[in-house]
Amino acid sequence: MDFLLATNNMKKLAEMQRILAPLGINVVTAKMLGKTLTDVVEDGDTFEANAKIKALAACKEMNMPSIADDSGLCVDYLDGAPGIYSARFSGGHGNDEANNDLLLKKLEGVPTEKRTAYYVCAICCVFPDGRIIEVRGECHGNIGFERDGNEGFGYDPLFIVDGRAFGRYTADEKDKISHRGNALRALKNELEKIL
Ligand code: IMP
Repeated sequence: MDFLLATNNMKKLAEMQRILAPLGINVVTAKMLGKTLTDVVEDGDTFEANAKIKALAACKEMNMPSIADDSGLCVDYLDGAPGIYSARFSGGHGNDEANNDLLLKKLEGVPTEKRTAYYVCAICCVFPDGRIIEVRGECHGNIGFERDGNEGFGYDPLFIVDGRAFGRYTADEKDKISHRGNALRALKNELEKIL
């Protein structure tokens, strides 16, 4: 069965394909089907709301089971910021370098024990018959004092789990404990129940 993933991020696609393939699910993007999804306004105030907005819109437009995710970093000392604004923390969309610089600046002088943070990934799957599955994965760690490593993306050079920045985790190592990996495994469990 084909499921649409509402993203053009090929890393997300590959990860989802790996995890859902054993269920007989073939994950595709609109682009792979020769289509372009209409942009939607992600104006929800939670990760869950934004994932649902994207999945509902994709399902309506493509009339096939559709999956969308929304993710970000929540820093306890910053009352959960950047949260749903993670991609555009420093202004423009998706400027990882500027986002990491700003995060370091906001945490200047903050000691290790107060630098706790967690990644969140909300995934929503909508079926044309109206069924909806919503899952959430988290990954807890803390924010380092400087960048470390070149793997991953986004805040990974600053996000430390078990004494090592995600910037030093291989993709496989990260998948096993990451917010997205955890959310995808939860999605797999839920899909197993209904397929
Ligand atoms: P999106 O859900 O793909 O739009 O991700 C939102 C933003 O959250 C990204 O641009 C990153 O800044 C951050 N983010 C989400 N997941 C990760 C991750 O696994 N590593 C690093 N940054 C992440």
